[in-house]
Amino acid sequence: YPPHLIRNFAIIAHIDHGKSTLADRMLEITGTIPPSQAAVDRMDEDQKNEQVLDTLKVERERGITVRAQSASMFYDHPDGTKYLLNLLDTPGHADFSSELLRSLLPSQGALLLVDAAQGIQAQTLSVLDEARKRNLTVVGAVNKWDLVKDDGRGEAAVKELSALLDCEEDEILRVSAKTGLGVESVLEGVVARIPPPPPYVEAEKLRALAFDSYYDSFRGVVSLVAVVEGEIKKGDQVTSTTTGLSYPILDLGILSPREISIAENPVVASRTLRKGMVGWVVCAMKDVKDAHLGDTFHHTHAPMPPLESFEPLKSMVFAGCYPMEPGGFPKLEDAIKRLTLTDRSVTSNRESSSFLGQGFRLGFNGSLHMDVFRQRLEDEYAEEIIVTRPLVPVRIVYKNGTEKIIDNPDDFPDPGEMLKVAEILEPTIRATIVAPEEYTGAIINLCTAHRGVPLSHTYLSTPSSAHSAARITLVYSLPLSSIITNFHSTLKSLTSGFASFDYEEGPYERGDLCRMNILVNSVKVDALCSVLHRSAVQKEGRDWAKRLREVVPRQQYEVVIQAAVGSSIIARERVAPMKKDVTARIHGGGDISRKLKLLAKQKEGKKRLRERSIGNVTIPLKSLYTVLGGQ
Ligand code: GDP
Ligand code: MG
Repeated sequence: YPPHLIRNFAIIAHIDHGKSTLADRMLEITGTIPPSQAAVDRMDEDQKNEQVLDTLKVERERGITVRAQSASMFYDHPDGTKYLLNLLDTPGHADFSSELLRSLLPSQGALLLVDAAQGIQAQTLSVLDEARKRNLTVVGAVNKWDLVKDDGRGEAAVKELSALLDCEEDEILRVSAKTGLGVESVLEGVVARIPPPPPYVEAEKLRALAFDSYYDSFRGVVSLVAVVEGEIKKGDQVTSTTTGLSYPILDLGILSPREISIAENPVVASRTLRKGMVGWVVCAMKDVKDAHLGDTFHHTHAPMPPLESFEPLKSMVFAGCYPMEPGGFPKLEDAIKRLTLTDRSVTSNRESSSFLGQGFRLGFNGSLHMDVFRQRLEDEYAEEIIVTRPLVPVRIVYKNGTEKIIDNPDDFPDPGEMLKVAEILEPTIRATIVAPEEYTGAIINLCTAHRGVPLSHTYLSTPSSAHSAARITLVYSLPLSSIITNFHSTLKSLTSGFASFDYEEGPYERGDLCRMNILVNSVKVDALCSVLHRSAVQKEGRDWAKRLREVVPRQQYEVVIQAAVGSSIIARERVAPMKKDVTARIHGGGDISRKLKLLAKQKEGKKRLRERSIGNVTIPLKSLYTVLGGQ
């Protein structure tokens, strides 16, 4: 397919502004998927949310696009030309920014969507930043036009967006992905304004960028590639610049949105994936470990240096993960293996806890990423899983110049080791918050309480009509550790949902961190240990001791629960011993048949497997599950 008839673009937007819906509508209008308006009318609300590009269950449940996916469509332009449009659906949350980069890399342009009723939000700014860094042509569109009709909010959003993009107001497309209004103009806009990939050069050597992959037990690894230079066809021999391994190309094609082998598609006459095209290849790669995101393939006979790529993914939040079910470890291991094949950004290593036994230490891009993965894991594993308290990577710098990064609170230096430590560093983020001006005070207070340092404070817009209040953009530096639990939800509730928040990575900075242990009758529960800023210790210590008291059942003895930093006790709670059960004698008479007794005993045995003992105290795993935030 000649590059001048190809457009590679991504749709970028704040979450829920309508990327997936618009992508679906574009696929429908171009006849790539069957038109569904009639079908939509017959569907109930739940079914309507099923979108072709959001295939994963959690995405549908949470409305989050986790994996960037690609779909190609053939568009019959009114002028009679047939264009090949390669659309990359992108995730809409900062935790998934590495995925965003993956989809921007093969693109020449981006369609920036803004919800007409909400206007520009925090992620609108951060995704635009990302697109500009990559020198992409950005086309602005205001979506959900059906919601605002003539009430002025739509025009206010157009004004805001044209100011942000520094373009004329009439260059902003007005769209309703829901009704289909203006979607044709989006297709035309993409063709007219987004530049085609560079022209094909005869005899150019192949370089193809692998930007995503999935596993198929039948064919092995299926890699999504953007052909940046040259061309690739069935039977070619290619080599990975990352591993040096060579493979024959067994099959290849485009995603539209399902796989279409090029051999079957009459439109792609060349039978090759050529420069500028995005597609899938199957190359007898059996081991998932050999599929590297950002890898460059070249023809084995024509070696080439790798293309500029994205940085390898970094885990920024870690947590332990343990089965609740006795003997559940192998099954959990299996479930984690399967899931990490589809989400390569999760890292996993075996670990063991003296309290919980065998488990895994998992690493995530952020806390939302962790929540999404946890939910997916529980679905996949079909059992409850204990996930320990999240920790950001903490850098310990020793006086002798050595350094280590810890990802488990239990590895935090104890008071003795602390004497050798020069400084402790923690990751920070650069947070962007967009909100109506009236919430400025509340947001500043929230950021200050989370150890934030203000970086900038600007107006996004001045009131242009009765429908748009002045809105501000606040930029703060915040320790990552202070925002991973409830910052986002508190921000939302403080501002009645009007504030939006997004962040990018900042530098590591000094932090006065310490380890808080939870003790039960003086024995440490390693699974509950955490690393905290010293200023949070008092409150957290009291909270955790109280929460634990509520779930630890009464025992024969008194149980004392303590939160401690080093040898100083922060909080103390007590569970009184059981009263002697005087009724036991009455009910425990000889009228229980032997069979019933046996059943009761078996049940007791099963229960015991789901308990752990610390010293003389027995704690059901379920209570730990509850205090750690499971249901
Ligand atoms: P994404 O997070 O950007 O992928 O957003 P989605 O495509 O999942 O859309 C978020 C919500 O907005 C869904 O409930 C859509 O049905 C709804 N939505 C999307 N486009 C429109 C539109 O043009 N009009 C209206 N009224 N709702 C829309
Ligand atoms: Mg989506």
